Amino acid sequence: MKKYILIMLSLLFLNACTPKHYQWVHEQSIPLKDIGPIGVVPDSENSQHLWVSDSDNNRVVKMDMEGSILVEHKDMARPMHIVQYEGKLYVPEYSSDTISVIQPDNKISTQTIPEQPDAPAGIDVTANQIAVADFYNHRIIYQNGDKNQTFGKKGKGKGEFHYPTDLQFVGDKLYIADAYNNRIQVFDLDGNHLQTIGEGDGMNAATGIYVSETQLLVTDFENSRILAYDLEKGELQQLIEQHLDKPTDVFVKENTLYVTNYHSKDISIFKWKKVSIEKAKDKTGKEYTAAYICPMHCKGSGSDKAGTCPVCKMDYVKNK
Ligand SMILES: [Zn+2]
Repeated sequence: MKKYILIMLSLLFLNACTPKHYQWVHEQSIPLKDIGPIGVVPDSENSQHLWVSDSDNNRVVKMDMEGSILVEHKDMARPMHIVQYEGKLYVPEYSSDTISVIQPDNKISTQTIPEQPDAPAGIDVTANQIAVADFYNHRIIYQNGDKNQTFGKKGKGKGEFHYPTDLQFVGDKLYIADAYNNRIQVFDLDGNHLQTIGEGDGMNAATGIYVSETQLLVTDFENSRILAYDLEKGELQQLIEQHLDKPTDVFVKENTLYVTNYHSKDISIFKWKKVSIEKAKDKTGKEYTAAYICPMHCKGSGSDKAGTCPVCKMDYVKNK
């Protein structure tokens, strides 16, 4: 028994010395030619096919991984953040104030919602619920069976919005991209504000979100970044800054992250990969000289406050 404990302890110790580190790593970018992309969803039938809202050209397209258009739906009035549920694609049309639904057979119907939106920018759908980001009214329209409600009003306080653009149901919570308050707000399904994430992280227009099983990902439009937060702790886990150019939407499926870049007109694809940690070489850098340092001296670590290393997640230690 003692032997086992010793082995366990040494394994723990070894793990502490070589922490695992996963992050999003760029794999490819798909050029889109004449598409001004806003929203993206991998098709539920075939993840090699992507639905993209082409707001500039008033259409929604299904394309392959080379960017070739397979299906085109014209006459959509500035389609925004789309979502797919049970094979149906829900398209908020910003300019016509309607929600269109593209059926699996490509027929189009209109989704009724309990309140009239002024520029619907995002939508999410479950078996009996619908939520719509009502952009110009600075509120969320929510329907659950016979129960209708709106959440929020214009403002900067808790539970108030400044142009909401995207949202997602996560269990009994609703995550909302409060775009021009540069933050994410979390509500319960009775409309009570629960949590605010990302305030103070320097975002400039939090336009698109996706909540995976472990992370909350946000597009920081003007800064051309994605902020990836640990879902449980709300801590920033990764700042993605490469291969992004005015990103508007994110989607995660299994270990793949899809991002629409509105300015460069392409889709960036990232994979969740184990990466080796780079140790800082320069011993005069903050990795060695900050008040709080990572025991591993990971490149980019070091802070004037206690916390965890953004690279390897080990707790900072006080620099002596
Ligand atoms: Zn570290």
